[in-house]
Amino acid sequence: MRALQLTDPGVLELREVPVPEIGPDELLLRVGAAGICHSDLHVLHLPFTMRAEPLTLGHEVAGTIEAIGGEVGGRAVGERGIVYLCWSCGVCRECVSGNENVCRAAGRTAMPPCPGLGPDGGMAEYIRIPARSFVPIGEMDFLQAAPLADAALTSYHAIHGVRDQLRPGSTAVVIGVGGLGHVAVQILAAVSAARIIAVDVSEDKLDLAARCGAAEWLLSGADTAREILDRTDGRGAEAVFDFVGVDQTAKLAVESVAPNGAYRMVGLGGGAPELTAAPAGGPGWPWGASVRKSYGGTKSDLIDSVALAEAGKLRIEVEKYDLADGRDALDRLERGLVGGRAVLVP
Ligand code: NAD
Ligand code: ZN
Repeated sequence: MRALQLTDPGVLELREVPVPEIGPDELLLRVGAAGICHSDLHVLHLPFTMRAEPLTLGHEVAGTIEAIGGEVGGRAVGERGIVYLCWSCGVCRECVSGNENVCRAAGRTAMPPCPGLGPDGGMAEYIRIPARSFVPIGEMDFLQAAPLADAALTSYHAIHGVRDQLRPGSTAVVIGVGGLGHVAVQILAAVSAARIIAVDVSEDKLDLAARCGAAEWLLSGADTAREILDRTDGRGAEAVFDFVGVDQTAKLAVESVAPNGAYRMVGLGGGAPELTAAPAGGPGWPWGASVRKSYGGTKSDLIDSVALAEAGKLRIEVEKYDLADGRDALDRLERGLVGGRAVLVP
């Protein structure tokens, strides 16, 4: 089969490799579509590779069951689904409590094994997956379904934990309206009555935010925090979701979140928010606000995301590419030119 593999730091190659063999508790999926996440760019730019042999990228995967391991029950060849990306242990205290995204087996700051970031991913014709990571999608289009596996899952998880704060009359700020952010705007519109303010460095992305349900939008600049405060009676936003995570956006989040508000870090840009223990006053961190570094989501969040899409509440803006053009698609993503999500079709 063909697979898009990372062979050296920064080097992606379309290679012919054997179709994977599955174990007794695994499934073989014929890939229908695989989304490209900004995290794939982060991986491409690591100064080292994540393992010695070539690694097939792709953690946003939809496909059809081609073969079923001997110990797997309840699945059928030909069933269509997406892949839950936390390949957690399934038996630790966190997993059994439904917090598979922070599985104890992963240690303190690592993440559970994720396809395309350790085990081979889905930018290929076939992928081998643990049977319990399969989530059915019925007849949903693969191009729409694949981005649910991360863009929707991760956004949904960050938003779900903040729902108590998002009462009618509240404000939610979405920083970065890319693959994740444009889905986050739609999820916020679907599950809350909050007014949504979108922030991005590109006018095109702000147009997309408006089409996705944002009420207001701001081109990111030196005055963005001040503008958000002006629009919220000086209080700030009850929730700020940062889908960029660089110093500039971390500063914006700190300076625009409301007292008792929620700042959710999702973007992995390495930014460091300045949280001081100084007393009241000044532009910084308000009383009662909380910050959470949010990773992926739970399997339950993924099932909710699929249900939202099935109910017609999520419409992924897709740029479709052939698997062989994956490198070009990543380059476009890097230059900020992808509107919504770039999705590869093998
Ligand atoms: P993307 O490239 O599709 O979108 C990023 C968006 O941010 C673009 O619209 C871009 O114009 C905008 N942007 C860039 N700089 C900005 C700035 N200074 N201010 C405002 N907007 C700015 O990326 P994506 O695939 O949506 O991923 C977003 C981030 O989330 C990445 O860092 C990715 O690695 C990370 N991520 C984290 C998790 C997690 O579990 N925490 C999961 C998936 C992705
Ligand atoms: Zn991702």
